[in-house]
Parts: sequence; C-alpha cells; structure tokens
Amino acid sequence: MIYLKSESEIDKMRRAAQLVSLTLAEVAKYIEPGVKTGKIDLVAEEFIKKHNARAVFKGYGPPNNPFPATLCISLNEEVVHGIPGERKLKEGDIVSIDCGVVKDGYVGDHAYTFIVGEGDEETMRLLRVTLESLYKGIDEAVHGNKVGDISNAIQSHCEDEGFGVVRELVGHGLGKQLHEDPSVPNFGKKGRGERLRSGMTLAIEPMITLGSWKVHTLGDGWTIVTADGKRAAHFEHDIVVREGEAEILSTFDYITEITKNEILDTRYG
Ligand code: MG
Ligand code: MG
Repeated sequence: MIYLKSESEIDKMRRAAQLVSLTLAEVAKYIEPGVKTGKIDLVAEEFIKKHNARAVFKGYGPPNNPFPATLCISLNEEVVHGIPGERKLKEGDIVSIDCGVVKDGYVGDHAYTFIVGEGDEETMRLLRVTLESLYKGIDEAVHGNKVGDISNAIQSHCEDEGFGVVRELVGHGLGKQLHEDPSVPNFGKKGRGERLRSGMTLAIEPMITLGSWKVHTLGDGWTIVTADGKRAAHFEHDIVVREGEAEILSTFDYITEITKNEILDTRYG
C-alpha cells in the first residue's frame, strides 16, 4: 500500500528530514581520531531530544533484540546498522552515520558517510561515486517513471565505476512509518516496478562497496559487513516525487559547512 502525501504532510516530512540533516551536521563536529562512536551517538540523542523529536531507530526491530542506539554508525567494511559503543575513530576510517527521527508524527531518515581526516584515493572515489549515484537515482524519481528507473541509474553508475551494489538492503517509502511501500532497490531494470506518482515520499539510499556486493550480518544481529572485508559507503536522502523534478527534503549542506570536504561538497551536476 503506497500512501501519497498531501502538501501539509510533506511540510511535516520536510521538517523531520531537516532535523536529521541538522543532527548529522552536529555530529560532524565530533568526527575525529580518538572519539568513541558511543559519544557521537550521545550527541545525536541529546540534539534530537532538544528539538522535541524522538529517535526512530532506538527500539526498532525484533522485541528480543531491538536496535539499542539513536544512530547507526558503521565503520569501514561495515555497510549499515553498526551499533555505537566503545570503539574509537582512527585517521582514515570511513564512518557511515544513519539517523532517523520522528517529529510531529512523520519520519526523517537519512545518512552520510564521513571520512576521518584524510582518505586514500580509492576510498574517496568510492564516496564520490556513491554520492553521485544517489543524485542520479533522485534525477529519475519523477512522476510517470518507474522505481526501476531509480534502481538502474544507481546500479549502472556504480558498476560502471567497478564498485559493488549491495542487494540485500534497499531504499523505501517513508512517512508516518520508517519503512513504507514501495521498496526502492539500488539495482534493477529501467521501466520495471511500481509507477512513481507525485506525492510519493521515498528514502533513496545506495549502499556501495569497493569489492563484491555480498554482505553478511555479525553476531550482534544488526551490523551488516561486506563478505570480503572491503569498505562500503552509504548516502541517503528523503525525497518527494514531483512532476519534472523530485524535491529533496533532506540536505547535506549543513554537513559540508562543517566538514569543508570539497570532493563531496557539490551536488553531482
Ligand atoms: Mg537510513
Ligand atoms: Mg532508510
């Protein structure tokens, strides 16, 4: 069941998405060698509370193993769903941070992959291509297209660059619930899948690897890692399908004001 949103619902979703954007920018200030991932999580938790919202990942999942934190913080070969804790960031690490909030009944859910200090050339290329693929996917998220047009744009861009496209985890509809229909895979064929209509709100989120696309789950029941141990990147935006051009509800601008990372600073043109 796909829920099309009214403009007043979209206003609320924009505010939820923007709060996630601001939260990611707040935690960006703490991304440096020696900082514990648990500290970053605490910063986000307090920031979200201060803005009269609630973290949506905390407590999510099966009752016998709910996700225990505000953020998913995934380092290096971890793709997504990493659990914050005692680990400390090191120079050259890549740090994917995914944040979800519910504000006024609507969910914002987006993610950015940071680099601690200086990244090597291959890692920076992975981050740049993943980010580019996100925007190439968003360019297809227009009224009348199909979900497969988004999927194919992401997949073909990343595979042309020699990277792996994770299959097991996908983007999704977004609204009052964190995960709504339709699924938005990062791989697929043009012209296939659900037809996109104005007012559909989606989280588009390529998860891209330096090697094979195969992943597995660690014993904590949450952390997804690449099977070959190579690095992975993850960027996620919340968007509204519109006529002609999608509207992006979230923004990375607040983050790049903090990180000043020129390679990742520009929207892919
Ligand atoms: Mg997310
Ligand atoms: Mg998501």
